[in-house]
Amino acid sequence: MNGGYKCIQTGLIKNGKTKGIQMNFERDEINKIIAGFDRVTLVLRPTPMRKLARLSAELGGPEIWIKRDDLTGLALGGNKSRKLEFIIADALAKKCDTVVTWGAVQSNWTMQTAAACAVAGLHPVLVLFKKYELPPEPDGNVLLERLLGADIRFRDADKGKMITDASALAAAEEAAAEIRTAGRKPYVVSVGGSVPVGDMERPLGAVAYLEAFLELTEQTAALEFRPDAVVFATGSGGTQAGLLCGAKWTSPETKVVGINVSDPTGPFTEIVRTVVAGMERLMDMPTEARPEEIICLDDYLQDGYGIVNRGVTDVIRRVFRTEGIVLDPVYTSKAFLGMLDLIEKGYFKKTDKIVFLHTGGTTALFPNKRTLVGFCD
Ligand SMILES: *Cc1c(COP(=O)(O)O)cnc(C)c1O
Repeated sequence: MNGGYKCIQTGLIKNGKTKGIQMNFERDEINKIIAGFDRVTLVLRPTPMRKLARLSAELGGPEIWIKRDDLTGLALGGNKSRKLEFIIADALAKKCDTVVTWGAVQSNWTMQTAAACAVAGLHPVLVLFKKYELPPEPDGNVLLERLLGADIRFRDADKGKMITDASALAAAEEAAAEIRTAGRKPYVVSVGGSVPVGDMERPLGAVAYLEAFLELTEQTAALEFRPDAVVFATGSGGTQAGLLCGAKWTSPETKVVGINVSDPTGPFTEIVRTVVAGMERLMDMPTEARPEEIICLDDYLQDGYGIVNRGVTDVIRRVFRTEGIVLDPVYTSKAFLGMLDLIEKGYFKKTDKIVFLHTGGTTALFPNKRTLVGFCD
């Protein structure tokens, strides 16, 4: 009737592995499909999860848990490691010898791509867009990219343009053409490995976060709860699209709450919707996600992408001082700040259990050291 639609029935239990929580039948189906994808192993999984006990107590609820995707084990960790397992495998399957991608200067994605290339013996070419003048000495991710021997090409960022814009892809395609002329075979992949353009024809980054959602709920099930919400920083949309598919297909009670760090809600929602549609085709399962379920909140952009201010510094200090966990100044600090504000506004119930997904990025602390210290009084 509705071709290929695999009906979600939370009543269909395939249990035995986990105690307490009923596991959805769809999980096995999804895991089977994902197991069919080419993969290069880069991630030490499952990534750890623990309760933020002191912080949750300080807030008087909800109960906040953290999943440590900053500890994936590739380079200094981060959410891009999971995506690159599938993307690098795709590049290898296509017999490419070079990966071409782009990002902002200090992009975690480009650094992780360069590190994943090292694992697979590929050559990374990185187009880095400058939003501001660079400090004279390489620091943070640029330092790591230099140590990895990446071919770095700096470009000026167009003001007001999103980094997912066609002009950024054009810059990557230009570099790819040059590489082809030199007799090598480039694989062009978009920033964050989210939107399927260039040589990545399927939303492989989102596949990785669909799988991560299953991993996360497997962990919470073992802890005998189902998360009411997963909160995280959203940047190029793949993490959100994957998590949303995972929730819609296997745990519809779990709200997927993305906090935008770079773009306004309107155009960003469209990007997530595009990636979700790609996932529905790829997995042959509709999500039937309603518009209001694609939650990307742009109330916490603060002073704009990558700009460190007092609010960002304060939340980094608060979480570090109560829990010993380091947030980054570009993504996770804004997501955490957003989560705290939403808690204060009553967006979550005091009895809710929330999982905050730590997506990495802590290398960006160091190039921002002066600004951060300036707010530490
Ligand atoms: C890339 C990134 C994100 C956002 O993930 P997307 O899939 O691009 O939306 C969040 N946090 C950190 C630290 C990142 O590097």
